[in-house]
Amino acid sequence: MTAFDFMNRNSAEFDAIRHDLHAHPEIGLEEHRTSAIVAEKLAEWGIEVHRNVGRTGVVGVLRSGSGNRSVGLRADMDALPMQEENTVEYRSTTPGMMHACGHDGHTTMLLAAAKYLSETKNFDGTVNFIFQPGEEGVGGAKAMLEDGLLERFPSDALFGMHNKPGLPVGKFAIRSGPAMAGGAFFDITIKGKGAHGARPEDGVDPVMVAGHMITALQSIVSRNIPPSEVAVLSVTKMAGGDAYNIIPDTATLGGTVRCFSSAIMTQIQELIERTITNVAAAFGARASLDFRLIFAPTINDPEHADAFAGAAEALVGEASVDRNTEAAMGSEDFSFMLEKTPGAYILVGGGEGAAPHHPRYNFNDATTPYGAALYATIVEKTLPARAAG
Ligand SMILES: [Zn+2]
Ligand SMILES: [Zn+2]
Repeated sequence: MTAFDFMNRNSAEFDAIRHDLHAHPEIGLEEHRTSAIVAEKLAEWGIEVHRNVGRTGVVGVLRSGSGNRSVGLRADMDALPMQEENTVEYRSTTPGMMHACGHDGHTTMLLAAAKYLSETKNFDGTVNFIFQPGEEGVGGAKAMLEDGLLERFPSDALFGMHNKPGLPVGKFAIRSGPAMAGGAFFDITIKGKGAHGARPEDGVDPVMVAGHMITALQSIVSRNIPPSEVAVLSVTKMAGGDAYNIIPDTATLGGTVRCFSSAIMTQIQELIERTITNVAAAFGARASLDFRLIFAPTINDPEHADAFAGAAEALVGEASVDRNTEAAMGSEDFSFMLEKTPGAYILVGGGEGAAPHHPRYNFNDATTPYGAALYATIVEKTLPARAAG
């Protein structure tokens, strides 16, 4: 039986798991019930279970044969702090929380692959099933890495996926190299000197300095980054003062930077620092920067992207795999794992429906057999079983 047949034959079981997770969403790093269910299922299928890897993270380890090569498969488990508007029977039972990004589906697909691989063991080596908490901007990948994920469960390659509404069910999309942007948030504090609004000569106006700073910051990407590179710097927040006749002491700016290379991210950070320090100094003020890298750029290693695309083609045919999909300005924290271990991230078709993070988004159950079978197939292709005898 092929992995895809197995997934279809057992679809009622897997859909039931997904619907149960959907009805009981838990936000990032608080996936206590979810991770307990994951651990219980893995144990039931004879897979070695390690809990609390990065708070609520779970790792399952499955060995077959005598090979010493290893593959890590990663899925995320967290929901979002938002109110569900779907009316399905299994809609969220927790007010203000919902699985609006399909991580209930991702968790289910990886569980389904684990069940299949534990029964068939048609591979030679070790599979690490990585159930990651807190993908939605709360540091779940970093928490697992800080807990020794890659040292305790070393993998030669890592593979992950995300569902994509708008891409038909049964299709996959991937690209080699930079696939998703890295993202940073920044806050700038400008210290001036307060004064009466009618006597500016007594003070140093941080609001006026902020105005010059916003303009100067817009020259960073346009005048320093090669036009062949993609980068965005947006100032999205400004605050300072609360009276009509008082020049305040302090003003603040905030915003985000997105780009596809760690070197460019570092360059932009340094240029922000230089720009704000010197613009402030020109007016007799001082400025400080708090720059926080939230997501690294997601970089697909060419060899592993090719292998992942090949596994998808084996499943659905060449015509249904887009090997050169557009890079996305969105971000994904699997990037921090791919910085340490080569691998690839693929998009699996979610068909018609609302976009992720929409109150009427719902993971498509029809996607499950494809994603689950791909997780299984990449293991069988990367760790081929030795011929018997
Ligand atoms: Zn999301
Ligand atoms: Zn997501």
